This record gives sequence, C-alpha cells and structure tokens, in this order.
Amino acid sequence: MTESGNNTSGSWDHSVDLLVVGSGAGAMTAALVGHDAGANVLLIEKGEQYGGSSAMSGGGLWIPCNHLAREAGMQDTPEAAWKYFKGCVGDATPDDRLRAYLENAPKLLEYLCAKTRAEFIPLLEYADYYPRIEGSTPGGRCLDPVNFSGKELGDEFVKMRESAPQQQILGRISMTIPEARISLARTKGWMWTLTRLFLRYLLDIPWRFKSKRDRNLAMGNALVGMLRASLMDRDVPLWLETPAKSLIFEGDRVVGVEAERDGKRIRIRAEKAVILAAGGFEANQAMRDKYLPQPSKAEWSSANPNNTGDIINMGIDAGAAIGLMDEAWWGPAVKFPADDRARFFVIELSLPGSVLVNKQGRRFVNEAAPYGDKVAAMYAKNTPEAETIPSYLIFDANFRNKYPVGPLLPGQQQPDWAAPKDVMSLIVKADSLRELAEKLGIDADGLEATVAKMNEYAKTGVDTEFGRGDTIFDQYYGDLNQKPNPNLGPIDKAPFYAMRTWPGELGTKGGLLVDAKARVLNEAGNVIPGLYATGNCSASVMGHTYPGPGATLGPATTFGFVAARDALGVD
Ligand SMILES: Cc1cc2nc3c(=O)[nH]c(=O)nc-3n(C[C@H](O)[C@H](O)[C@H](O)COP(=O)(O)OP(=O)(O)OC[C@H]3O[C@@H](n4cnc5c(N)ncnc54)[C@H](O)[C@@H]3O)c2cc1C
Repeated sequence: MTESGNNTSGSWDHSVDLLVVGSGAGAMTAALVGHDAGANVLLIEKGEQYGGSSAMSGGGLWIPCNHLAREAGMQDTPEAAWKYFKGCVGDATPDDRLRAYLENAPKLLEYLCAKTRAEFIPLLEYADYYPRIEGSTPGGRCLDPVNFSGKELGDEFVKMRESAPQQQILGRISMTIPEARISLARTKGWMWTLTRLFLRYLLDIPWRFKSKRDRNLAMGNALVGMLRASLMDRDVPLWLETPAKSLIFEGDRVVGVEAERDGKRIRIRAEKAVILAAGGFEANQAMRDKYLPQPSKAEWSSANPNNTGDIINMGIDAGAAIGLMDEAWWGPAVKFPADDRARFFVIELSLPGSVLVNKQGRRFVNEAAPYGDKVAAMYAKNTPEAETIPSYLIFDANFRNKYPVGPLLPGQQQPDWAAPKDVMSLIVKADSLRELAEKLGIDADGLEATVAKMNEYAKTGVDTEFGRGDTIFDQYYGDLNQKPNPNLGPIDKAPFYAMRTWPGELGTKGGLLVDAKARVLNEAGNVIPGLYATGNCSASVMGHTYPGPGATLGPATTFGFVAARDALGVD
C-alpha cells in the first residue's frame, strides 16, 4: 500500500496546471495535448529512464476509421468498427466508453500527425485479431510508427528505455513491424531486408564506436522518441527519478501529488488536474498473487520492471474503484537467462513445423491464435493430469534450421554448437520424439500421436482440431512459402527440440475504474474531481479481449488525449 492521501496542509514545492504521472506513450500524449491547450505541464517518472513499456513495445496503435488507412484506400466505417469492437468486448465495458474510444482515437491520430513529430504508416495487411467477428477488417487499423532518428533527441536519447530484446535483431538492430515480419517469416525480399538493416546499423559511424544501441529507432522506441522530441520542442519538463507517492486533496478534489525527488518529499500542485499514466502491476509479485489467475510470476512478464502498481494502490487508498484486476495482455513467454525480461512468443507458435502441447503430449489450442487466447487456454485447461503450465513448444530440425526461436537465430546462421549456452540450457533436444518426451517428463505416446496428426494436417493444409491457419490473422505470422497452409508444416526431421513456455504478458490491464472521459471513479461510481487515468493503471476499455494489433497503446494514447482535453475544457 502507499501512504494515504488527503494531506491538504503544507506549502507547495512546485505548481503547474497539469501534472502527468508516468512517461509512457499515454502520459506523453496527455502532456502534449495539455501544453497545446495552453496549460503549464509537468511529467514525473519514477525510473532513471523515460518511456516505460511503451518504449519497449512494438509501438503499434489500433485505430479504426483512421485517416491514414483511408488515404491508402482501405475501407472502414464507424458502423463496421462499432460492430467489431462491441462484438469483441461485449458487455465488459460500458457502451459510452467504447464509443468514446472509437470517436476519439481517429482524432488523436490526426492531432499527432498534424501537430507533433509523430508519423505513422497504416499496416494494410495486418488484420484484426478476430476476422470472424462482423465488422473486422483485413488491415489498416494498426498504425506503425515510422523510423525516427535518435540524433533528434540529443542527450535525451540514452535516457529512453531500450527496446525489448525481442523487438530487435540480435537484441540490438531496430526493425519496423513489416520488416520484422519479412525477416522472421522469410517472406519475399527477406535477405535484402536483413542486409539493409545490418548495413544501416554498421554504417552509423562514429556512433558505432560509442554504443551498441541502434540510433535508428523503430517500433516503441520510435513512438516514444517522436513524442519525447515533440515535448522537447515545447520545453515541457520531464523529471526522472521522481516517483509519485500519494495524492493530495482539497475537500473531495485532487489538487496535487506528493512525490519523492533527490531523496526528499516534495508537494506538486496541479491547478487543473492530475493525470495518472503510470503502467500496471506486472512487476509486483504480491499484487500478482492477489489478483491474477494462478500460477503467475513477475519473471514471466515482458514489461517494464518499474510497473509495480504503485499508482493503482495510491488510487485505491484514495477511494477509487478498480476493475479487470485479473486481466493482462497475455501471451506465452519464456525468460532466458541473459535477458532481464521474458520474451513474448508470437512467431514461434505461428510458423509451420511447431506445435504446443500439454503434459499429456496433446494440443489444447490453436497455436497461431491471438496471444491472449493461448494463455486463456493455458489457464482454463491446466489440470493435474494434463498440465498446461508450463506447456511445451515442440519443433524439429527443419524448423530450427529455418526460423528464429527466442534469441536463437535460425540454425542456418547459428547452428546449435554456436548458440549461447545459457539459451541452449532451456532447450531440450533428442533424436526421437519418444526420447524428447521422456526427457521432458511428458507422455510419449501422446506426443507421437499429436505429431502424427500435425504431419497429416501439414499435407492437407487443414487442422481439423483447432483450425490453425484458417484466418488471415493466423497467416500474418506464417511462412507464405509454405503450401498449402502457411502455419502448418511437418515435424519429422531429427533432432527434435522442446522449450517450456509460461503464461506471460505485455502488462496487466486492470486498474482504476474510469468513465468515458477518463475520469477516475470512486467506489460509489462518482467522479473523483481533478483525477484522470489512462493506460495500464486504468481498467482497460478493451475488457477481456485484445481486438487487434495496437489495442493497448491505442487506448493509452487516446484516453491521454481525452483526459487532457477534458481537464482543460477543450471541446
Ligand atoms: C515487448 C512488448 C511489445 C509490445 N507491443 C505492443 C504493440 O505493438 N502495441 C500495443 O498496443 N501494445 C504493445 N505492448 C504493450 C504496451 O507497451 C503497454 O500496454 C503500454 O505501453 C502501457 O502503457 P502505460 O502508459 O500504461 O505504461 P508504460 O508505458 O509502462 O508507462 C508507465 C510509466 O510509469 C512509470 N511509473 C510507474 N510507477 C510510477 C510512479 N509511482 N511515479 C511515476 N512514474 C511511475 C513507469 O516507470 C513507466 O515509465 C507491448 C509491450 C511489450 C513489453
């Protein structure tokens, strides 16, 4: 728990119109909008670096009916967007909040494109995650940040949180979402794409002599870089190493925050509002134990280690209501010894020639389904006889040779003997499926039967059990050279490999309950005046689902936009 709020007495150390807590994409958006509406704004960030999980991320924003897709010729309508969004979220979120998202997200994008350094391209082939739900589109709703040069940030560049290692080649070289797809799934032009990325990295002389970090920013680093540069253009201050500790009230209104800076307590007044944008509680094991389905470990998270739920507890102490606390942006993950965070597995489970099994050696889910569905199945089907936590990713020598797995490059480039020992220590290898099962302690007959079926599906192209590869979403991370189904390939060449995978996440999604204007609500359902929340410290507008690529950053930024405008009375 945090120290309680309601501390109304005492003088102020600093005073602004709008105080934003956190420095992810939602926080920075709120600060930009606030500044442009004429407010004096300050951001405070707990960590030594700014950007949070937003900087580590893929950087995509899911925005139906956006102007960039429209200009690129994609069809989308508010009716289709509503049907799809409501079809995904159902009754988990009040309709007025869903409508507020659909109405404001395209406006936010227009604002960012027109008034800030942010630039995006619509991903025309990246489909919504549930193509069978009415109103889905085959692409265009996800916006990918274009590359941004770290040089534009000057000394602030190194203060930005680094990309997650899985977002970069060799944990170092930046790539956009389409470049990642081309390189990892080896679609047309992959060799040239990889060569170009390596050359761009190597030829950034003399920076190469100074640092391994790529200055050509992509994905979440590009998004946060553009927003940070836009804040710098406006001289909006961002104080690092300044954690918020408690809310300060006057009567029932929030008027400021007590924070820690240089080892001292300071009181910051916010004349108009405090906007909380300080991430979820994924790094707080006690909160995970209390709220999330079990088992659940902080080491399975891919998100920012500073997200320890402080702000959610601060809100609870101040009487705020909470929701969706048992939810996260789930996905199967593996923590490798050399990484400080777990790697979220996406392509490994979609590419042809892999299968995910339980302790009985049996499949339990479509491996190429949206990430959240796989972890939902891991929890729902985890029984003592047929444990799914961990579950086992199985692949063969052909798969190992052709495709990357976690930090391992394809065997063609990095054979087992040249692979890092600590990574190989997590991989079980055997000359037969039976031996592999025995080494893993799982049912060998079950595994052999499962693989026999998968090999049959690879020939027919039809997975009659779970429908792997049946939708355009599944196929996005498949290998389009693989016929007849880009997600199904034989598993028949020794040696065979296995890796234990766990229910990981990109961040939790439960937190302070907010209304359609991002105002924090108390237990009685009333607005707490002066207090707003966005991003993963608020209960997500997405409810229990993940409708499409960018469905976490889309709302974080949109409701940052909504909150700042409402707080400052902008129509
Ligand atoms: C590998 C990876 C890939 C991802 N890809 C995507 C993607 O492509 N699209 C998408 O939509 N989502 C993606 N996500 C998820 C997305 O990054 C997060 O859901 C989102 O960034 C959360 O934003 P936030 O503002 O809530 O938190 P953050 O971006 O984490 O920002 C919160 C900030 O608040 C700070 N903070 C915490 N406590 C305090 C305190 N007491 N005082 C002051 N500051 C505090 C934290 O240090 C942090 O900097 C990805 C995540 C990961 C890890």
